[in-house]
Amino acid sequence: MPVGTQATVKGVAPRELLDLNVGILLANTYHLFLRPGHELIRSLGGLHRFMSWPRAILTDSGGFQVFSLSDLRKVTDEGVVFRSHLNGDAHLFTPESTLDIQIALGSDIMMALDECLEYPASHAVAGESVERTLRWARAAFAHYQRRAEAGEVAGALFPIVQGATYGDLRRRCAAELLPLEAPGYAIGGLSVGEPRPLSLEMVEITAPLLPRDRPRYVMGVGMPEELPEYVARGVDMMDCVLPSRNARNGCLFTSEGRVIIKQARYKDDPRPLDPACTCLTCRNFSRAYLRHLFQAGEILFASLATLHNLRRYLDIMGRIRHSIVLGTLPEYLGAVRSVPVPE
Ligand SMILES: [Zn+2]
Repeated sequence: MPVGTQATVKGVAPRELLDLNVGILLANTYHLFLRPGHELIRSLGGLHRFMSWPRAILTDSGGFQVFSLSDLRKVTDEGVVFRSHLNGDAHLFTPESTLDIQIALGSDIMMALDECLEYPASHAVAGESVERTLRWARAAFAHYQRRAEAGEVAGALFPIVQGATYGDLRRRCAAELLPLEAPGYAIGGLSVGEPRPLSLEMVEITAPLLPRDRPRYVMGVGMPEELPEYVARGVDMMDCVLPSRNARNGCLFTSEGRVIIKQARYKDDPRPLDPACTCLTCRNFSRAYLRHLFQAGEILFASLATLHNLRRYLDIMGRIRHSIVLGTLPEYLGAVRSVPVPE
C-alpha cells in the first residue's frame, strides 16, 4: 500500500495511482485529525470524495504517530494525551475516539488504537504495553460493535499484535486478540530501529498464529528485497513510505538495484532509469534528464521518481502473487536471495 499521509501520495495524482493499478492506499489518522480535521472531511463527503480516490483506503490508529511525532505524550489506561506537532495543542486519543475519527473519514479498513514502543524496550515495559494494547483493542471492538449495530459503520476493524521484540509477548498478544474474530490482523511495532533479522523473526513467530483465511498486515515495512521475505512468512499486506520518500530524495529502486540519481555517472546517461520497467517515467525519460530535474530541484522530479518507485514495488508484489499462483514461490525466493543487496 502506498502511503498517503496527508490524504495524498506526495507528488502523484489519483489518476496516476489508478494507472498503476493501486487498489488500496494508507492515510494517517493522526495527521488528518490535526489538519484539516476529520469533521471537516466528513462534512465534505468523506475521505474518498475529499481526495478523489475511488478505491480502498486503510487508516492507521494514530498510535504510531503519537508515539513517534508528538511531544509530552502521557499514556494512561484511558488512552494517550499528546501535544500536536503543529501547534502544541493538547489532545486525547482513546480507543473509542480514534475509531470515531476513522469512521468519520469513511475508512475501509480501520485500525484499533495500540501502543507502539521504541526499540529497545525491556520485557517488563513491553509486557505492560501488550496488556494495554489488548485492553484498548477490546474497547475499540466493543465500540465498533455498538456503532455497527446502529448502522453507522461501513469499514472493517483490524486489531494490532504488539509485543516489541519478545516472542512470548507476541504469542500472548496474538492469542488474546483471536477471540475478537476480526476480519484481519495487523502486526505492529516493527521497523522502529530493531535489526532486520529480528523484525523477520517476530513476523515468523506471529503470522502463523493469525487466521489463515484473513489478511495479515505488517505495518511500516519494508525495502524491496524484504517484501518476498515477509510474504514467505505469511504476510498479505504491507505499507511503507520508502518508495515515495526515497523517490523524493533521489533514491530509485530498479530491477538492477538502487540508482542514486544525483551521482555524476548519470549526468549524460541516455538510458531509461530501469530498462525492464514500463512505467511512464521509464518509457519517456533518460537518467540524464531525471538527474537534471533532481539537481535543479524541479518538482516534476518528485512525481516521476515516485511514480517509478511505486511501480517497482507493485511489480515485485505482482511477481510474488504470480509465483504463488504457479506454486513457484520457493524458486522465486531463491532467485531473489541470490542477488546481493546494495548498501
Ligand atoms: Zn519505471
